[in-house]
This record gives sequence, C-alpha cells and structure tokens, in this order.
Amino acid sequence: MSVNLAPPPFQVGDYQIQRVMEMQLKFRKPTEMFPGADPDEIAELLPLITPWAFDAESGKTILAVQSYLVRTGRANILIDTCIGCGKTNERIPSWANRTDTCWLDRLAATGAGVEEIDYVFCTHLHADHSGWNTQLIDGRWVPTFPNAKYILAREEVEHAERTGLPQYPENVLPVIEAGQAVLVDADHALDDRIWLEPTPGHTPGHVAVHMETGADHAVMWGDLLHSPLQCFRPDWWFMIDTDPDEGIASRKRVLEAAAEHNHLVLSAHFPAPSVGRIKSDGAAYRWEYERLEGA
Ligand SMILES: [Zn+2]
Repeated sequence: MSVNLAPPPFQVGDYQIQRVMEMQLKFRKPTEMFPGADPDEIAELLPLITPWAFDAESGKTILAVQSYLVRTGRANILIDTCIGCGKTNERIPSWANRTDTCWLDRLAATGAGVEEIDYVFCTHLHADHSGWNTQLIDGRWVPTFPNAKYILAREEVEHAERTGLPQYPENVLPVIEAGQAVLVDADHALDDRIWLEPTPGHTPGHVAVHMETGADHAVMWGDLLHSPLQCFRPDWWFMIDTDPDEGIASRKRVLEAAAEHNHLVLSAHFPAPSVGRIKSDGAAYRWEYERLEGA
C-alpha cells in the first residue's frame, strides 16, 4: 500500500497541524481485536472498511502509528510519541529493538527540531503512544525533547507505576527523573483553547485532547477507537481495554459530541489520511475522511 508518511501540514483555525507518521501496518484480525463482537456481524461490516482499513488478503486490520504536531503560534505541541527505537517489548516483538530513526527524520522534516517542542501530551502510556518520549543516548534513556514539558494524566502514570507497565522504566521514568513531567488531572486545561477530556476504559487515565480555534474544534482521541468498525459498533471493546464498560461509555460520549458539533477528529490509528468527521447513521455512526489539503 502506498502511504504518504510525511504529509504536509493542514490548517485548523489558527493552528497548523501535521501528522508525523512512524508506520502503517497490518495489525491483527478483527475477531482478535474485538473479542466481544459477533464474528458474523464483523464479516457483514468488513466490506464497508475494505480496502482502506482492512486488508482482505491477510484478514488483518490496517493500523497507522503516528503523532500529531500542533503549532498554535505560541507553542509547539506534540500529541503521542509512537513506538521509538531500541525499546523492550515482549508482548509485541516487532515493536522491540527497532533501529530505524525515520520518525525523528520526519519530525525534522516538519521544520520543528526536538528542542523546539514545548509540550508533549500522551493520550495514554502504551508502547505505541509514549516511545519517543525518550531516546537511548550513551546507554541511558533520556527525554527526546529537552525543553518540553510532558503533560501526563496523574492517574495514568500512577496506574502504570502500580501495575508495572513494561515500558514505564524506558518511556516515563526518565522524563519524571529529568523534572520534565507535569502530572495533571485528566480534565486539565493547558489554556482556554486546549484541554484534556477524561476518556477512561482503554486505560484508567486515558485522555482525549481537545483544541478549539475560532469556529473549529479538533479532538485527538488516542485509543478510544482502533478501527472505523467501532463507529458502527461503539460497544465493541478492544482486546486489552482495562475496563470495557467504561471504554464503551467514553467512546459513545466522544462519538456523540463529535457528530453533534462536527468536531474534526485526529485519529491515532485509522489509516492515512487519518483525519475525519463523525456522522450520525441511524443508531450509530460512520467515519468520513476529511479531504484536508495535505492530510
Ligand atoms: Zn495505540
């Protein structure tokens, strides 16, 4: 599949937003991803997301792994930091010990150097959302963005620490030890235009990031949805959601608001161009890609 991994920026009100992709991959079979779903119903819905979000040949969903760079004019904000290089990952071996540095090159291609990132937000702390928080320099994990404040939901950090999240020592602890972590409530507002919404379920401290600029409202929803299939069936929970019921409630609430207020959704994992709108469709929703220039 041909994917533009370094798409140009697009404008949302006053903000310039740019995707920084790490990869797009064939992930898993939908029946594995959504263990509570009826396989017959999955089979019925799959044609609606084929071939853009489902690879019929392998039987696997297509998943993007990416960050969003938001330039507000006052600050450069990075939302989620992908997988990273040289990481430990026993659960997903193909994400471990990666040696490519393409993501860093793509970030550099945006014109924003690592020292120019002012804030890093993590929607949650899983391996594919917190990897480039740090990089390995001379055998030590150090923050990749030396001048950034890392805005992390306190509940998410405490849960990661308490449960021994495998990537915590590599992706989170070095940021805390460097004094760059700012632990916040899950409804924290950076200012009156950028704020977090608590969206627990995938993880206890999972957050969505809202950005309002002029008449435009964008939301980066992290892992609230892993596939457009969940627009049709918001009650299909993901295989490792810590609290499926809580996740279903969060997903329905964010989908409803996005449809009602025409939010521009910046999805974490939907295939490129990854940015779209939610439309009401009977009792559920459907996803419509936004044909933003460069998206
Ligand atoms: Zn993810």
